[in-house]
Amino acid sequence: MNCKCPECDADIEVTDVLAGEIIDCPECGVELEVIQVEPLVVELAPEEEEDWGE
Ligand SMILES: [Zn+2]
Repeated sequence: MNCKCPECDADIEVTDVLAGEIIDCPECGVELEVIQVEPLVVELAPEEEEDWGE
């Protein structure tokens, strides 16, 4: 399967991913979350949010 990095537009080949999995873009290193597998949809993974202390 292939997808495009939404950050740098690189073609990323992925195998055996599951929805919800986090993958790294080999080009720019950004973390991508697998939203859906068939068809493959990835989005930029949300960055760890700072703990604002509520
Ligand atoms: Zn990228």
